[in-house]
Order: sequence, then structure tokens, then C-alpha cells
Amino acid sequence: MTMSEAPHSTLPYPPIHREKKFVVLSDWDGTITNVDSNDYMTDNLGFGKEQRRQGNLDILSGKTTFRDGFKVMLDSIVANGHSLEYCIQRLVENMELDPGFIEFFSYCDANDIPFIIVSSGMEPVIRAVLSNLVGEEKATRIEIIANAVQDLGDGKWQIHYRHPSSGFGHDKSWSILPYRDLPNPPITFFFGDGVSDMSAARHADVLFVKQKADGENDLAAYCNKEGIKHVLFKDFGKALNVVRSVVEGKSTTGEALAVGQS
Ligand SMILES: [Mg+2]
Repeated sequence: MTMSEAPHSTLPYPPIHREKKFVVLSDWDGTITNVDSNDYMTDNLGFGKEQRRQGNLDILSGKTTFRDGFKVMLDSIVANGHSLEYCIQRLVENMELDPGFIEFFSYCDANDIPFIIVSSGMEPVIRAVLSNLVGEEKATRIEIIANAVQDLGDGKWQIHYRHPSSGFGHDKSWSILPYRDLPNPPITFFFGDGVSDMSAARHADVLFVKQKADGENDLAAYCNKEGIKHVLFKDFGKALNVVRSVVEGKSTTGEALAVGQS
């Protein structure tokens, strides 16, 4: 893919980090957080887990697009009368961080490695939960490239997609690809867990796929089906060992991928 093929973005991007040796990009929901916040809202405030899970499987099999399937889930929360403020409050009370995340982020921070959240969720929701979980001070040093929310009045809201013309709604590959075009491209690491990461899976130098305790290993299933090399990781503390060994030059990205597990 070349940049001229990028879908029209309705939302701005932060500037590219030039002259960095490494860049970390990561999904938010279910990757940095233990539980996917959109799944949590759909399961508890929307049409429930059974229909939501079937929706994920339909996205994975290609029966529907992420853009269309995900909007139906979020709309079911609004249909039950829940305002965005109420949803954010419930998420702030219930979301937890991956146990190794703070250590991982602190390592990146100390080693001049930009950390960018690339999410199919909604930016104001992520900001609120992130600030609550890591503290305001750290949160300001984490960039977020996500979708937005449109306020429809009367407590109603809907997701505003970054790339409405793409079946992904937000095609995450366009957060990674500009790095490949730099004169001295950094090594990119991408972390993900689910169907929202299918658009990014092929484009980072090292892809990390989260092993889920709940058995919803959708990104792993996709990568296995498509033959995409990746490193399975249980938590960011384990993944840090692999990242550190690449950063310190003890292993190449190929060697890290060949091990396949952290
Ligand atoms: Mg996710």
C-alpha cells in the first residue's frame, strides 16, 4: 500500500515521530485494558454478550465489516437510554489495566520510545479511562489515534468513524505505514488482541498478539488463518522482555518473531 491509497480521514493525526529508533503502537481495549470496554458496555448496557459475541464472529468471518458490526453494538447501548457520560462513569469504575502495562510504558518513556494508542474505540472515552488508570501526568505523554463521538442531543450519541469509507471504520494500518516511508524508518511494534486489529496485523515489524483468558482470541485466529507471524503475549511485563532484547540489539525482529511466544 502507498500513502496515496489512504482512505480519507475525517479526523487529524498527530505528527509522525521522526528520528526515533523504535515506535510502539498499541490497541487499547482488551490489550492495554484487561477487558474490552466496548464489549463491556455492549454486554452490560446494550444487547448483551450472546449477540455481541456473534457480531465479533461475523466480523472475523467477513460476514459483516467491523465498521457496520461495531456500530450496531454501540447503538444498542444508546437504544437502552444510556448517555455517554453514564457509560464513561461505568467504565472508569470497572476497567483495569494489564498488570505489566505501567512497567512497560515506563520503559518506553525512559528509552525515548513513543507510545501511541491506536484504537477503534472513541477518543474521549479512552482519555477518561486512561487518565483514571495511569494518572493525568503519564496519560498526557500517550498519544491516541482513535474514532470520535457525535453528540446527537437528548442523551443520544453515535460513533464518528475516522475512515467512514473503510470497512474498518478506522483502518489502523495508516498509523503504521507512514513510518515505513521515512528515510530512516524506526522499528515498529504493534500490540493487539481482537477483530479491530485485523487492519494493522500485517504492517508492523513485530506484531504482538494477546492471549486472552476468556478464550476470545480473535486476532490470534485471524493471524493463524492468514499466516501472519506474531509473538503471543500474556501481559505487557512478558512482552517487555522481547521488546528490550530487540532495543538492546540482542535479537533481531526476525528472531523475536521466530520465538513466537513471550
Ligand atoms: Mg482490542
